[in-house]
Amino acid sequence: MPDVFADLVGQDEAVAELRRAAAAAAAVLRAGAAALVTAGPASGNESTADDAATGGLDPAAGMTHAWIFTGPPGSGRSVAARAFAAALQCVHGTGCGECPGCRTTMGGTHADVRLVVPEGLSIGVSEMRALVLRAASTPSGGRWQVVVIEDADRLTEAAGNALLKAIEEPPPRTVFLLCAPSTHPDDISVTIRSRCRVVPLRQPPADAVAEVLARRDGIAPDVAQWAAAAAQGHVGRARRLARDPEARKRREAVLAVPRRLTGIGAAFDAASALIEAAEAEAAASVTEADTAERAALETALGAGGTGRGAAGAMRGAAGQLKELEKRQKSRATRAQRDALDRALVDLAGFYRDALTMALGAPVAPVHTDTAALAGAGAQKWDAEGALRRLEAVLACRAAIEANVKPRIAVEAMMLALWKG
Ligand SMILES: [Zn+2]
Repeated sequence: MPDVFADLVGQDEAVAELRRAAAAAAAVLRAGAAALVTAGPASGNESTADDAATGGLDPAAGMTHAWIFTGPPGSGRSVAARAFAAALQCVHGTGCGECPGCRTTMGGTHADVRLVVPEGLSIGVSEMRALVLRAASTPSGGRWQVVVIEDADRLTEAAGNALLKAIEEPPPRTVFLLCAPSTHPDDISVTIRSRCRVVPLRQPPADAVAEVLARRDGIAPDVAQWAAAAAQGHVGRARRLARDPEARKRREAVLAVPRRLTGIGAAFDAASALIEAAEAEAAASVTEADTAERAALETALGAGGTGRGAAGAMRGAAGQLKELEKRQKSRATRAQRDALDRALVDLAGFYRDALTMALGAPVAPVHTDTAALAGAGAQKWDAEGALRRLEAVLACRAAIEANVKPRIAVEAMMLALWKG
């Protein structure tokens, strides 16, 4: 029977470290000596890289109160954090995958595991304060209070400070699991990082991704192999490509861009098409949730009430609805950016293929289905031209990340791709 770590693809070292920590955590509970749990600079400071290497020698190789899971998108940061949360709540202390602690954690219903998934572009301070407060309470299941913060790089500065306070003086049974792309100061403040133990995840190899798609999701091996390569190590993306015809269609449209760039007009058309496709994809993903949320809030606020006090209640309700609209708008913006970024990653893969072919590098192409087209590009542009085009795509991603208006960044990129 696969345990909770089974879906962490190609991360053997991280899994071994988390298993050790889970065992140590269980031992702490058995000893009833929560005070022995170490945290803070003495254990979590710069020595983190060594901790993993030295194994059981360092006391910090046991249990720690605050963790950061880092790795490229799709490497399984949140999968790792959830699996570890389950192992902490596992009645056997191993993450067996079968006991109520494991099952409820993995199902998202464990009373002592709180999952924060930022919906907008950042996690705000009020949300964080409320979370920290609840995390300080005694675990109802008698084990640990676990807080998982996905995309901790999207914390606002104030929210980060609220979190830092909790990590600096952790309640004895509380564990914070943060997920972020890296420990670069742009992603995680230096002070938070210095209080956390870091679990680096790597980009899983395509073979490992294909294996898990075939084993767990029952996807045909050849489809799994193709999707794993096309997704460039992003497990979730690979699964979507293998299963969702719409996702495949969107990818095909993106990969048709290079051969459509026949002039200035075509470049601007391609930019518009890319932006609009991202908007449509984002709208499809959030509209349903938006409508359901609004209906739920209106019901909770007793919309349509006529009794005494109803007018006052409605005035308060207007404020809450406005707040909800603000949150939904921010979520829509983020969904658009994420959709556009996926398209840019696909496009970068195409030019990377052209570059490796021009160089005659013995590596497999990212997009096997457009390999012939990339080969033609390699002949026409040479390595230098392919590299310039790849850089144009990466520059576009960086510009959007730095808050340049997406349309402007994409138009500049398309012109650069056309001109070479
Ligand atoms: Zn279990």
